[in-house]
Amino acid sequence: MNNKTLIDNLRCIPDFPKKGINFRDVTTLYKNAECMKIMMDELVELYKDKGITKIVGIESRGFILGAALAARLGCGFVMARKPGKLPATVIKESFSKEYGVDTIEMHIDSIEPDDVVLIHDDLLATGGTAKAAYKLVQHFHPKKVFINFIIEITDEGLHGRDEFKGIDLTTLLTI
Ligand code: 5GP
Repeated sequence: MNNKTLIDNLRCIPDFPKKGINFRDVTTLYKNAECMKIMMDELVELYKDKGITKIVGIESRGFILGAALAARLGCGFVMARKPGKLPATVIKESFSKEYGVDTIEMHIDSIEPDDVVLIHDDLLATGGTAKAAYKLVQHFHPKKVFINFIIEITDEGLHGRDEFKGIDLTTLLTI
């Protein structure tokens, strides 16, 4: 898609959260009404006919448009959260990130085998976070799994998409 308004409004913060990381700051997209409309309309267009029954949002920026899209599609919303945040029994998966090791968790009763799932996050870098979410979702053996990111980073030697060969993956912006 690579909409010019989205590209123009995405802010880049050098050396955040540590030196050498060029952080793409999506808060400048989320605070802008026109950008919100462009992103939501595109997401609805991409997924309205896919029979999605659950959206899994990855903490925390995946919650924002993930939940909004669930409301628009009329499906459920599930959180994939950082450790210790979910109150009931969880399954968990650890993964390495651009900067360190992390774990995400989902409630053990959050997805059913007859669900069609869309995993959503704001940004794809190495793919480690979403791959962990994908493994968690596969634990439930849903009918089908789709993956979406607002932004895909392909500069800086990143090939996150390679982690998801054969999986239906979309992104709105490629950088
Ligand atoms: P990955 O696991 O693909 O290396 O990193 C993606 C995850 O880290 C996502 O959950 C995303 O929110 C966060 N992340 C990593 N780099 C950036 C960045 O430059 N901007 C934003 N907004 N999120 C990032």
